[in-house]
Amino acid sequence: MKTLSQLDVAAKRVLVRADFNVPLEDTPAGKMVGDDTRISASLPTIRALLEKGASVILISHLGRPKGIDDSARLAPVAKRLEALLGQSVLYIQDLPSSPETAQKLQNLKPGQVALLENIRFEPGEEKNDPELCKKLAHLGDCFVLDAFGSAHRAHASVSGIAALLPSAGGYLLEKEVSSLGKLLDGAAKPYAVILGGAKVSDKIAVIENLLPRVQMMLIGGAMAFTFIKAQGGSVGKSLVEDDKLELARSLITRAKELGVQLLLPSDATIAQAIANGTETKTVAANAIPEGWMGLDIGPDSRETFKTALLNAKTVFWNGPMGVFETPPFDAGTRAVAQALAQIPQAFTVVGGGDSVAAINETGLADKIDHISTGGGASLELLEGKILPGVAALQ
Ligand code: ADP
Ligand code: MG
Repeated sequence: MKTLSQLDVAAKRVLVRADFNVPLEDTPAGKMVGDDTRISASLPTIRALLEKGASVILISHLGRPKGIDDSARLAPVAKRLEALLGQSVLYIQDLPSSPETAQKLQNLKPGQVALLENIRFEPGEEKNDPELCKKLAHLGDCFVLDAFGSAHRAHASVSGIAALLPSAGGYLLEKEVSSLGKLLDGAAKPYAVILGGAKVSDKIAVIENLLPRVQMMLIGGAMAFTFIKAQGGSVGKSLVEDDKLELARSLITRAKELGVQLLLPSDATIAQAIANGTETKTVAANAIPEGWMGLDIGPDSRETFKTALLNAKTVFWNGPMGVFETPPFDAGTRAVAQALAQIPQAFTVVGGGDSVAAINETGLADKIDHISTGGGASLELLEGKILPGVAALQ
């Protein structure tokens, strides 16, 4: 993959595809950016380009608008970006491919930053329309892809423009690809993967690709109940994917054949409803009574998972251990976050939208070696897929 340092950018207009797909919050003063992690993550690339004497034209999507949609405009992003960068940003509200946008960019000088409107307002973006690619490419002299979170999409502003201009991966993309790459090849052993979240079906391809590479696989979250039921356990009304029981059984067998230790929770925190202050109990994870559901891994499992991770040299974590949004069902997720923070000898990576939110909430994020900004993109990379955005830079 070509990287920023291989691109001559002095006095050039550099189109940068960033991932500013951030949560927006309604406030009395209008829409504001909530968590700005994704904006911050692209600052090193933007600053490096400005220092090298380039002007920067930023492109991003936000949400899934169907055509022009006032609630998905990038105005709040422009504002936050100005604050984070400490300089003004020329925010252009016209369609990115319009003559007005090209016109307004004419006077952009080295050291200046512009932000185009939500690229998904363009009907050609997701179709990777050649006409749109051409119009976008005309706006700059070269292209930098820094939107790791979108790198798994073969869209016009992700992979399409790259074919038309001298192109390179930005620092964020480079860091993501190299950190996640270490989870695929040459990971230090023992290598442990912790998976959780709602559904096995979301993670099958990751499990299958990582199973032969790891020594330990810890499974929590709702996903664990599909495995527990597959082994004959009683799971009450826990979230289970009945069409994945056979698959779960075959993964258990495969783990045995490979000598991988597959750890399921021994106990669970259960309740009859997902609600704050509801009655909870701790029971064996395979003996959940009728009408109750497992909403978190229990205290014994937390200890077992922590101990299992102690000697790991590489750890990847994706998916919360329970319904962490609703206390007290956040205890298992917090325990895993703490365990990760306490193994300094390990290379630790957290990926997935909800797991990253959870680790940020615990305040332990700075103890983790790499926190991936890409949910879908990081999973696809770990499934062993070549991301179209990355392929376009090779
Ligand atoms: P990530 O975004 O980190 O990849 P997922 O999206 O796969 O994670 O899963 C997160 C969701 O899984 C959360 O909304 C959480 O409430 C839910 N979840 C975790 N454990 C359970 C459980 N035992 N029962 C129901 N939902 C669960
Ligand atoms: Mg999620």
